Amino acid sequence: MSKAVILVSGGLDSGTLLYYLKKKKVSLHALVFDYKQRHKRELKSAVALLRVAKVPFEKIELEFPWKGSALTDKKVKLPKKRSVKRMSTGIPSTYVPARNLIFLSLATGYAEAIGAEKIYYGANALDYSGYPDCRPDFIESLNQTIKKGTKRGDEKKAIKIEAPLVNKTKKEIIEIGKQCGLDFGKTWSCYSGGKKPCGECDSCLIRAKGFTEAGFPDPLTTKK
Ligand SMILES: [Zn+2]
Repeated sequence: MSKAVILVSGGLDSGTLLYYLKKKKVSLHALVFDYKQRHKRELKSAVALLRVAKVPFEKIELEFPWKGSALTDKKVKLPKKRSVKRMSTGIPSTYVPARNLIFLSLATGYAEAIGAEKIYYGANALDYSGYPDCRPDFIESLNQTIKKGTKRGDEKKAIKIEAPLVNKTKKEIIEIGKQCGLDFGKTWSCYSGGKKPCGECDSCLIRAKGFTEAGFPDPLTTKK
């Protein structure tokens, strides 16, 4: 069976990807990143999801010595109550400088070390077009770099990053998650942390829009 690495953040997209690949019987090895996020809630969801899915994982702890993101610096205010149109213009303050490039580089090292052929990345360009490191051309270009910069690439067996959800809408992602048996109550999208999602940050709003369009309730916000 072919081996693959998957990046799991605890959010809706990586949770769906995890269950989608489990259904396809891919032999998964997950990476979870504790990068001193604003809150630990999403990280807890990642670990809970992986335990239920019985997927082995490694947790990588790192702390960026730089600031500049609302996700790592509590002094930076989280954008709230923005319209979808507003969200899709410019790069939001929740962008973490080069975070996904760093994570994918670490995942490449892990994949090469354990003999995995693929890295599954739950990026989604449609609903988060503000993030340059979630776009197809970024992934394509990184695949070229991996080909040139790794031993496996030199041996013509380059590791490949795949992002099957990159061009899906949030509604479509939710539908795939449901078909694959994902418990949405175990995922977390809110940028704020806490016991209940804030309902106002970009991530909460996009998630709510997705569930409304998919036509069923989000167990995370509806269960008492
Ligand atoms: Zn929120």
